[in-house]
Amino acid sequence: MNLRHNKKIESTSFFKTADVTRFRRVLLRWYDLHKRDLPWRGEKDPYKIWVSEIMLQQTRVAVVLDRYSRFLKRFPTVRALAAARVSSVLAEWSGLGYYRRARALHTAAGIVAREHGGRLPQSAAALAHLPGIGRYTAAAVASIAFGEAVPLVDGNVERVLQRFYGPSLVRTQKDCWRHAGQLLHTERPGDFNQALMELGATICLPAAPLCSRCPLAQLCRGRKQFSSPPRVQRTNAAEERRKVQASYRVLLHDNHVYLVQRSPNATLMPAMWELPPVGDKRVSLAQCVRLRHSITNTDFEVFAYLEKRGRASEIKSGLATWVRVDRLNRLPLTGLARKILRSFSLLD
Ligand code: SF4
Repeated sequence: MNLRHNKKIESTSFFKTADVTRFRRVLLRWYDLHKRDLPWRGEKDPYKIWVSEIMLQQTRVAVVLDRYSRFLKRFPTVRALAAARVSSVLAEWSGLGYYRRARALHTAAGIVAREHGGRLPQSAAALAHLPGIGRYTAAAVASIAFGEAVPLVDGNVERVLQRFYGPSLVRTQKDCWRHAGQLLHTERPGDFNQALMELGATICLPAAPLCSRCPLAQLCRGRKQFSSPPRVQRTNAAEERRKVQASYRVLLHDNHVYLVQRSPNATLMPAMWELPPVGDKRVSLAQCVRLRHSITNTDFEVFAYLEKRGRASEIKSGLATWVRVDRLNRLPLTGLARKILRSFSLLD
């Protein structure tokens, strides 16, 4: 491997320049041989890389796998996404959660279409000006799509670096970004960034790292020792998860389901459609399903009651309407509404 372009290699007291070289070599070799076959792997279209990165934020790969191709089939280009109604984008995003991402993606697509001729800006710095694109996403798109030599840090990279260097050298996210920048392979920055993330996702696992299969094992300071390191300090410490119970009604009348729309100003999932809450009404336990649902830091225990020939006249909550069962899929439903409707076989 040629390091002539990596002029700013720094070393620590225990990690020398030669080790940095070896780190890059073994990591990239491992990545070339063992990377998972994912639909966005090897993709060079910046728009598609951008979509995959936004979808993958706070959503498991298994869930994104199902939705990535479908989303791109419906919105194959930045211009197609920009021209779509936001409700169509939210409907297609339904089930992926964190809908603010979809709204920002749509807004940013409009800006790219209007102000950049439909082409994404080619540097991380310029990308970071678009709505919904933070430092990580900007670096991912710029390095993978445009080969810009910028490092990135996500949860996986953070864990790998903290174990690799040891907690005394990686205390904050700033430390992570600094080390990621020092290690970056400037000739293959996109592959290097993906390799580090891939290592965290498949080998340097959160609970039990597979050190015996790790290409970095001989260099890693934290091998075995730091199998469960404390989390890197963040400005906002992770909150404890809350447990909440909630009950909803599924009113079914003449093959229509009654839905209410959340306020456009709601902090969570604005303008999405959901099922009406039970309130004080008596409901029959015989028609109840119980399920679990998690949103951000809250775990819900949900009871949903199916009421056939239900009447909605007593419900007085904002915008509400009856929706034909075969049209439910066209509305931006909340993930919970979708889950409940599926449990009663009213949605695919
Ligand atoms: S050797 Fe173990 S702790 Fe170190 S990076 Fe590899 S998997 Fe993680």
